[in-house]
Amino acid sequence: MSRILEVNDLSVSFQTYHAEVQAIRGVNFHLDEKETLAIVGESGSGKSVTAQSIMRLIEMPPGEFVDGSIMFAGEDLTQKSEKQMENIRGKEISMIFQDPMTSLNPTMTVGKQIAEALIKHQHMSKKEAHNQGIALLKLVGIPNPEARINQYPHQYSGGMRQRAMIAIALSCNPKILIADEPTTALDVTIQAQILDLMRGLQEKVGTAIILITHDLGVVANAASRVAVMYGGKIVETGTVDEIFYNPKHPYTWGLLGSMPKLDGSHETLQAIPGSPPDLADPPKGCPFVTRCPHAMKACKEHMPAYTNLSDTQKTACWLLDERAPKVELPESAIVGGTTVHG
Ligand code: SF4
Repeated sequence: MSRILEVNDLSVSFQTYHAEVQAIRGVNFHLDEKETLAIVGESGSGKSVTAQSIMRLIEMPPGEFVDGSIMFAGEDLTQKSEKQMENIRGKEISMIFQDPMTSLNPTMTVGKQIAEALIKHQHMSKKEAHNQGIALLKLVGIPNPEARINQYPHQYSGGMRQRAMIAIALSCNPKILIADEPTTALDVTIQAQILDLMRGLQEKVGTAIILITHDLGVVANAASRVAVMYGGKIVETGTVDEIFYNPKHPYTWGLLGSMPKLDGSHETLQAIPGSPPDLADPPKGCPFVTRCPHAMKACKEHMPAYTNLSDTQKTACWLLDERAPKVELPESAIVGGTTVHG
C-alpha cells in the first residue's frame, strides 16, 4: 500500500485573548491508501484540530501558528493558498462532521447540494449531476432515492442526513475522507449502520479514512490502526489488535477501562479521574502526569520518548524505560468482554 498522507512534527497554536494555546504539539502520523486510521482521545486532546489542520479549516496566520508539514500527494498542505485548498477540499480530501445539520444547507435540497460538488469538481452537466446524485444516495442506502433527492435536509432522519453527508463527501471520489465523530449524535443502532456503511464504501470506493472519535468502542471494527491523542500529542499508536490487546500507555488503559463491558457490569466501567491539561500552559513532561496513577518523578520533568514495541506500535511512557517499576495491565483495561459497536 502506498502512503498518501504524512504528517510530520505538526504543531498548531492559537492566540487567544489571554494566552497562546498549543493545541497540537509535534504530531507525527501517516495514512496509507485504502486504510482507516482512527485518532482517539477525549475532547481537548487535539484530535479535531489535527483533522481541521489537514483540511486547512483552521486559518493559519495571523494569530495562529503552524510548524511541521502535512504532505499530501508530494505537496505540503500547510504551504497552500486558500484558493489551492478550495480545489483540494471536497475533491481530494473530504470531511464529514458529527452533526450533518451544521454542514448541510437547510435551504437547498439534498440533490442540489450533491450536484453542486459534482458540477464544481467533476464538471458534470446539471442532468448528469442529478443522475449521479441518485446513484450516490442509493450507494449510501437512502431508500427511494429518486424522490428523496428532491427533499430538504429537515425531511431526512438523523441517520439519513449522515448518509447524505457521506454521499456528498464521496461524490468526487476523494482520496481521503476525514470523519470527525460521525456517529456521536446518533443512537447506537444507527451508529452501527453508519460504521457498516463507511466500512462497506471503503471496500467499494477505496477511499482512505481518518476516523476521529472519543470512543474506542467504535474503533474496533472500523479501523485498521489507531493513534491515541492526549494533551496535543500522540501518546500511543498501533494496529487495532495492539491497542486493544497489548496497550502500553496508562491513558489507553483508561480509555479501555471506560468502555462498557459485554456482561453489562457497571462496576467495570471506569471514567478517567481528573481533567486534561491546560494547553495554554502545557506540562513540561508527560501530558498525562496529573491523572496517571503510575506517575513518577521523571514524568513531571521530561517528556517520555517513543519506545518502538513493534513495526507498528510505539508508545511514549516512562514505564517502558528499563529502570521503571513493572506495572501490570489493569483488569479494567482487559478487553475480553468489552462491547464494541459495529
Ligand atoms: Fe504515566 Fe509517567 Fe507514563 Fe506519563 S510517562 S503515562 S505520567 S507513567
